[in-house]
Amino acid sequence: MIQDKKPFCWAPWVSLTYNAIRHGGSAEPCCEWRGNQTSPKNFFQGSATEYLKSDWLKNIKQVMLNHDMSVISKTCEECIIEESVGNNSSRMDYHNNIKNGEWSTEGLHFLDFRPGNTCNLKCRMCSAPNSSMIEEEQGLNLYSMDVSDITKLDFSNIKVIKILGGEPSIDPKVSEFLDYLEKNFYRPDDVIIRMTTNCTNVNSKWLDRLSKWNKVSLNFSIDATGNIVEYIRSGCKWSVLERNIEILKKHSWKWQYNVTTGMYNFPVIEKWLPYFIENIQEVDIINEKYKESKMVKTSMGPEDVVTYMSIITPHALSLKALPDKIKNEKLEWLSGFKSNYVEKIINVFNQYNYDPLYLEKFKKFTIKYDKLRGTNIHDLDPIFTRLMEWKT
Ligand code: SF4
Repeated sequence: MIQDKKPFCWAPWVSLTYNAIRHGGSAEPCCEWRGNQTSPKNFFQGSATEYLKSDWLKNIKQVMLNHDMSVISKTCEECIIEESVGNNSSRMDYHNNIKNGEWSTEGLHFLDFRPGNTCNLKCRMCSAPNSSMIEEEQGLNLYSMDVSDITKLDFSNIKVIKILGGEPSIDPKVSEFLDYLEKNFYRPDDVIIRMTTNCTNVNSKWLDRLSKWNKVSLNFSIDATGNIVEYIRSGCKWSVLERNIEILKKHSWKWQYNVTTGMYNFPVIEKWLPYFIENIQEVDIINEKYKESKMVKTSMGPEDVVTYMSIITPHALSLKALPDKIKNEKLEWLSGFKSNYVEKIINVFNQYNYDPLYLEKFKKFTIKYDKLRGTNIHDLDPIFTRLMEWKT
């Protein structure tokens, strides 16, 4: 059966990613979609209701059925790469959910909704379509598509709703959407609500809205602790994040940390790793509880305690900028650290090969944003002075 052949994917049939700002306002089968080489456009620029009836979507379904690798090798590159190194991919998640009977092959089962870029932080690896603060800093006025037709979609088959921003906890459009769902498609035991939050905010209205649902999964976007996270995620205070994380953990929700792997946190891993290691056991206990309750494992989000997300762009922040000598010092420090978890971090370091051009980009990028934001990398840790003065 073609459907069992890699990399056939059910996403065009059962999943929708809907963006107000990303890609100039678009709809596509999934958030991993790269969009090159498809006809007539890279991404479907238009509303979700138009997308679902479109020839664009019909064409993508046909591409999957024809196993047309001239298209799939580009559009689905991310899943293909993940699978080639033995990792789980979103394609596999969709496939498994259908194979084990949790999902059917028709109807909207997975929604990834990004109704705007309203945010209260300017993280250094982020971009204007994902943060209104960066949009303002860069003097931009991005087009935001009207996504109010989200209420016209049929949610009767929905299993997972993933909401990202911006920062969902402060975006009124997210609140409106949750209220709409609660009023019109309230199935608190069947629908998983997944959100990614920067943990700056735990306002009671947001928590009350989430508490109406019995399957909530939160991703904490925290890349480090103390002055390091405050530098990376411009505008946050570690003392506030730490307190809010504890408040969020008190709810019976699944949670995990999303850590970006980049040049501002990995060179100072000694400063923040102990915090994550302290928290691992606690997360494992919580995840066990969800496994016992037989929630669809993949739909709740990754099982790992901490997910590492490579920074690909801006290139300046990729770990390809880390010279081997410093990388080896970090690996040596890790080798003396007693935790099974450390093996994962070693793998992260070893994924990258040093490229001096990336280090030059890192220096320029750092100088530019330090000037713009009135910060000084040299105040963070002496290792950054070494990096800024490194002869490439
Ligand atoms: S294979 Fe991956 S990128 Fe392609 S449609 Fe499926 S989930 Fe999306």
